[in-house]
Amino acid sequence: MRTRFAPSPTGYIHLGALRTALFGYLLAKKMGGVFVLRIEDTDQERLVADAAEKIYEALRIAGIAYDEGPDVGGDYGPYVQSMRKSDYLKYAKQLVANGAAYHCFCDKARLDDLPEGYDRHCLALPPETIEKNLAQGAPYVIRQLIPKGHTTFVDQVFGEITVDNAELEDQVLIKSDGMPTYNFANVVDDHLMKITHVIRGSEFLTSTPKYNLLYQALGWDIPTYIHLPLILREGGGKLSKRHGDAFFEDFLAKGFLPEAVVNYVVLLGWSPPDNREIYSLTELAQIFSIDGISKSPSAFDMAKLRWVNGEYLKAMDFDRFYRLAEGHMANAVKKPDVDRVALAKMVQSRVAALDDIPEMLDFIDTLPDYDTALYIHKKSKCDEAIARDMLGKIAPKLAELAENSWNGSDLYKFLTDFAENAGLKNSQVLWPMRVALSGKAATPGGSSDLLAILGKTESVCRIETALEKLGARQP
Ligand code: GLU
Repeated sequence: MRTRFAPSPTGYIHLGALRTALFGYLLAKKMGGVFVLRIEDTDQERLVADAAEKIYEALRIAGIAYDEGPDVGGDYGPYVQSMRKSDYLKYAKQLVANGAAYHCFCDKARLDDLPEGYDRHCLALPPETIEKNLAQGAPYVIRQLIPKGHTTFVDQVFGEITVDNAELEDQVLIKSDGMPTYNFANVVDDHLMKITHVIRGSEFLTSTPKYNLLYQALGWDIPTYIHLPLILREGGGKLSKRHGDAFFEDFLAKGFLPEAVVNYVVLLGWSPPDNREIYSLTELAQIFSIDGISKSPSAFDMAKLRWVNGEYLKAMDFDRFYRLAEGHMANAVKKPDVDRVALAKMVQSRVAALDDIPEMLDFIDTLPDYDTALYIHKKSKCDEAIARDMLGKIAPKLAELAENSWNGSDLYKFLTDFAENAGLKNSQVLWPMRVALSGKAATPGGSSDLLAILGKTESVCRIETALEKLGARQP
């Protein structure tokens, strides 16, 4: 088996393209095959500087290693289409000689005037006229001559597809600058590079009959096709640059882990054989199969990506997490005496994306102003009166607590012992304590973690502020 990823270097890597690359890679790995990277840069107008380098870099970050490609070599290169111009011209000429393609000299003004599709004006040109035009160096394109009849093929995902050839246009194969169109180059290269399985987005499904007619006209085997379903935005529409949800690099910039994005993207349109959702690329390369690919569009789900990312963050070894989180923590917490390691440990168990860290920790340096209605929490069986009474009683005890008990586990025991002695539920102590220390309903750690991180003086001071707010103290 030989598969390929054939991106056009037009910028960053779209999530759909990343998925195409992943599926091609995983299938080749699973079958002990070869995965090829080919740069499709024949549309010179759409080229973006450094885009090929961006592709190499993105694939490296994603962990997708290709066996053959522009920067690693291989037997069927060069793997950059603009460097293979003569190959395409040679086969286009062969098609012309076989009657499966023809020269077209129509100018833009004439083409623009045509109401629908090309009208085959140049198909009727006498051979002498064609000879004369070519000899005079008149600009021309080479068009595919679509024969009458029907074209049928079987896609591994979408099943059997039949089109009436009358619906297919005599598409351009070689442009007037001598470059092939994508539509021609992909056929020639997939053949020359011995690609057995063509994996790409379903937007190419409608063009595939035209490619098949080219394979037939050149006497070549048609590869196996695996077209992938669309990826839609939550709420419909395409993933887009404007929404910041289109490119792999966008997610990396937002602090998502490459391995989490990769894991998530593989699940878009492919269902694993068991019910797990977290897989390393190595595991995926053992279990991936065409059977699990669905033909219905898959919707991008940010909450799910965040969940997957959070699973990777929780599972990663603490040193790596610390290195990744350090900068984000430094943005939020400037106080020098805060224990960064304790802070990172607290955050690691709760964070879904590194980018969330500053907001998670925004209460550490300064207590935000908050509404005492926060003390009302049904599930914890807590209200303002309970909070006032509880905080009033616990404050002096906390102030007296020995410094060597000022750590997460001892503090937790202290809080729950206090609840028991006071005849309160744990939640009736933990909830108001969290609010008093953070001014927030959700914090990365529990009350005892917050006490440990803030330290005795700051914690007691925040509880005093709470008591003032709750009307138990004169401000
Ligand atoms: N160059 C095409 C693209 O980037 C690739 C399509 C294919 O895989 O055949 O959209």
